[in-house]
Formats: sequence, C-alpha cells, structure tokens
Amino acid sequence: MMLGLLLARAGVATVALEKHGDFLRDFRGDTVHPSTLEILAELGLKEQFDALPQHRVEQLEGMFADGIHALGDFRRLRPFPYMALVPQWDFLNLLATEAQRHDGFQLCMRHEATELVRGPDGRVTGVIARTPDGMVQFNADLVVGCDGRHSSLREAAGLQPQNLGAPMDVLWFRLPRLPSDPSGTYGVPGYGNFLVMLNRNEYWQVASVIAKGEADRWREQPIDEFRAKVARKVGFLADRVDNIVSWDDVKLLEVRVDRLQQWYRPGLLLIGDAAHAMSPIGGVGINLAIQDAVAAGNILARALQAPGLPDESVLAAVQQRRLLPTKIIQALQVFIQRRVIAPALAAEASDRPVELPRIARLLLRSSFIRSLPARILGQGFRREHVQFPSR
Ligand SMILES: Cc1cc2nc3c(=O)[nH]c(=O)nc-3n(C[C@H](O)[C@H](O)[C@H](O)COP(=O)(O)OP(=O)(O)OC[C@H]3O[C@@H](n4cnc5c(N)ncnc54)[C@H](O)[C@@H]3O)c2cc1C
Repeated sequence: MMLGLLLARAGVATVALEKHGDFLRDFRGDTVHPSTLEILAELGLKEQFDALPQHRVEQLEGMFADGIHALGDFRRLRPFPYMALVPQWDFLNLLATEAQRHDGFQLCMRHEATELVRGPDGRVTGVIARTPDGMVQFNADLVVGCDGRHSSLREAAGLQPQNLGAPMDVLWFRLPRLPSDPSGTYGVPGYGNFLVMLNRNEYWQVASVIAKGEADRWREQPIDEFRAKVARKVGFLADRVDNIVSWDDVKLLEVRVDRLQQWYRPGLLLIGDAAHAMSPIGGVGINLAIQDAVAAGNILARALQAPGLPDESVLAAVQQRRLLPTKIIQALQVFIQRRVIAPALAAEASDRPVELPRIARLLLRSSFIRSLPARILGQGFRREHVQFPSR
C-alpha cells in the first residue's frame, strides 16, 4: 500500500491487488517505529496518523523477580521519541485513502493474484487475479510482489527463500486491561516459555513465546492449565485469564526468518516479507517492509517515468539498497534467538520469576545503553526518505 501511494503520488499509474475484502486481520503487527513515523511526516500524514487510536511506547521494560527494569528507551530519539502501537487495519486504511486521492491509483479488493503472465522472452508482463467476477488479467510494465511471507508471486517465479531458522513460535491472545494495571509495554522473561505484553490501552495484546513446533502439544493441555500458567507468570492478570475462553482465542504465529538471494526477475520485484520474513524480535517487520517500499518508490518512480521498460539493473538497485539493512537486523535477531531465546526455551519449564543479571542491571543504568536497542530497532540502518514531491 505504501509503494502504491508513493508511485501514485509521483504520477505513475498503479494498481494494488488485495486478496481480502478488508484489512481487518487481528493481530498482524501494530508496532510503528520512529523510522515509519518519519516517513508519514514526510508524506504530510502524521497528523492524520496521530488521530488514529494508538498507544505511545517510550520505554520497553522487563518484569523481573526484583521488579520492573527499563531495557530500551526511545526518549532520546529525534524527531519522534516513541513507538506507536496502532491497529494495522487503521494504518492501512489511512494509506489506502491517501493513495486513492491520486489519479492513476486503483485499489482492487478481493483480487487474489494467482499467476504471473510472461512475454515470449520470459519477462513478467502482468498477473492473473481471481476476482468476484472471475479470473482477470492485469498487464503491467512492472509487477511488485508485496504479498507477504507466503508469497504466491514468489512461488510462481520459482524463487525460494533461504531459511535462517527460528527456535520459537508465538501464541497470541488478548486480555482486558484495567486502569490500575502498570502502564508500560513489558517482556516477562522465563524458562520454557516467556511473555511479551503490549499495552493497547483497553487491553493487553499478549505473546506467549514457545519452542518451535510445540504449539500442538500446548494446545493438547486443557485451556485451564494455560490460563493458570499465564496467571502464575503475571499475578495481576489472574483475575481475568477466564477471558481466554478456549484455544480458539489463542492464535498461532509460526515464526520464520528467511531471505531471498535474488529479489527480482525480469519484470518482477519482491519486497517486504515476500523478500525477507523477519523474526518478531523488536517488532520491526512492518517497518522494514515500509522502508523497502520507500526505497523502491524512490528508485522505481524515476525508472517508470522514463521511456521503455525498467530493466533488471533498476530492480537490482532496490535489492542492493535494502539488502544490507535487512541482513544486519536479521543477523541481530538470529543472534538473540540463538544466545538468549533458544537456551531459555530449552531450559526446564519454570514459572519462577527470573532475576535480571547483575551485569545487565549495571549496564542498563546508563541512559545511552538503554537508548541503543531503541535506536537500532526504531530507526534501523540506512533510513529511507521520500524523495519525490507529490504531483
Ligand atoms: C501474527 C503476526 C504478528 C506480527 N507482529 C508484528 C509486530 O508486532 N510488529 C511488526 O513490525 N511486524 C509484525 N509481524 C510481521 C509483519 O506483519 C510483517 O513483517 C509485515 O506486515 C510485512 O509487510 P508486507 O507488506 O511485506 O506483507 P503483509 O503485511 O503480509 O501483507 C501482504 C498483503 O498481501 C495480501 N496478499 C497475500 N497474497 C496475496 C495474493 N496472492 N494476491 C493479492 N493479495 C495478497 C495479504 O492479504 C496482505 O494484505 C507480525 C506478523 C504476524 C503474522
């Protein structure tokens, strides 16, 4: 949607195909980092974004045996010293509404791209989509696959991502939040399983991180046992765990970390999760996808306005621009997965609260050190900026 908006803004005729009838998917990543806030400001959309229902996170904190400790601090970042938690459908609706203000932008809901169309020389020249009115062919100078981690366009192109491995899966659920609850966004470390609690004002969006492939085993236990585990980990949730009525209220996210070696073929480019699925560590997935879209928008708008078809060097330039920042963040995520998460999940399960190690406590006294994770995750590497003025 962001790429569609940027291209339409720059005067390039663009069609966005979305297989669903709306953007209402709970829960698909609502962590809008400062890098994305900057893009919204550059597009003149920050005020409208601020009007969306949201919770601003200034610090990431851990609930340890000896109390709450700040682990990351956004407050030193400029110009936006916070991360916003915003429902993804509101964010996408905002981008869609803005894109539709531009001539030459068309959003086709309930259009599922199923096949690539190729010219006699093998170049991708369009897609075939399943629509409420039957199969429809769209011809295009360039097809961009932004169709997520299970990308069908990637598969149709015969591209296979390299799996970088992940030791965990995530069970997501929500619980009501009361005014007397603590106000932060927390990690609750533990052995065998741990929680992440995102403050969504009226409710807690809770991630229960479990060992990879163990979801079926977890779901074999009665839901009462699961509720009791949550209550033992976070005492103040005990009075409301009954809101998890059955396992239907608990959604599985199969964590994947992967990356394509080559993000393009003649006439086709892949970006976002289709090119590189990210680990949920740091909640960077949507933000990297947005950065890809901005880089692609800057490079492609120029190429698509020039006469002739964009050649492979243009598509290679998008990959070259985004590969290093993606690799750095994925390398950090894989490091944390191997060194911290895998050993914690492999340890004998215990509901005892974990102590923050003394060395970490000493290091985290420094506001500079606390701001580092926020800077790395919130602003990323090689920040993109919108280069084209609106036409
Ligand atoms: C349960 C869950 C929780 C997550 N939590 C976070 C988080 O907290 N923070 C974060 O930053 N990231 C999170 N992520 C990751 C984040 O959602 C992705 O990294 C990000 O959305 C990638 O954006 P994208 O545009 O590349 O793909 P997606 O957001 O997956 O968008 C792909 C779109 O393409 C559509 N589509 C798919 N196939 C087709 C087709 N054939 N034809 C037409 N349309 C199609 C889909 O309906 C979808 O709208 C989470 C992911 C999941 C699954």
